[in-house]
Amino acid sequence: MSFGKDYDSKYDWDCFCQGGTSGIVLPKGNFEKVFGSDEPLKELADGIADKESYTTAFFEAFPNKPKCFLRGEGKTIEEAEEQCWEKYQKISNCDHEMERRDRTDGYAYCKHCSYSSMAFEPLTKCCKCGEPTAYTKDHKGNYYCEKHKRFKAKIKNAKLFLRDDFRLPRKRKKLLKKCAKNRFNSDGIYGKVKYSYFHSKKFFCNGRQFSVLFNNQEKELIKKYGK
Ligand SMILES: [Zn+2]
Ligand SMILES: [Zn+2]
Repeated sequence: MSFGKDYDSKYDWDCFCQGGTSGIVLPKGNFEKVFGSDEPLKELADGIADKESYTTAFFEAFPNKPKCFLRGEGKTIEEAEEQCWEKYQKISNCDHEMERRDRTDGYAYCKHCSYSSMAFEPLTKCCKCGEPTAYTKDHKGNYYCEKHKRFKAKIKNAKLFLRDDFRLPRKRKKLLKKCAKNRFNSDGIYGKVKYSYFHSKKFFCNGRQFSVLFNNQEKELIKKYGK
């Protein structure tokens, strides 16, 4: 589990699995409400999600035969595992028919089940040698194969794309790290707390982590662990 107690899986998965209870699911109809607005991210952060969404559990498996990634969701971790296992059974008994959908890199999805994998040649070509490749792309949208990656244009402010924790005032960061430490401690996890930002605020301690995505989650964290 990404956070909290260990979970004994019900099925005999012969591969790496992970689960957690931090995924957020919007109930039916809310997708349009949130993403139909002019400022979807603000809507999400400020409230609709707060009142009408609920926390859900997820279970992810990485089978080797066939090599793929599967994810199940549910109100409980048991439900999530059940869904994931059903997907796995379906995959194992399917004559896959692969399609690219909107991807151009060669990665494809089965029309009948949840199986997905690299199945075709990329549609994009290396701008140096013309070989089909999706190896790497620069900020102008030009592709480079592995052999020609050294010609890829560098971005001057690459740092800005990797982390933007500089947006968080130092005082706020200190407070949040303190709260995170208290939360980890209350779960019996001790050690140095590290912070990083990538899509959401993430806190790490002794191999465990949790993230804070919405304003109201941040407020909750401070309310509960700020002392
Ligand atoms: Zn299939
Ligand atoms: Zn090339």
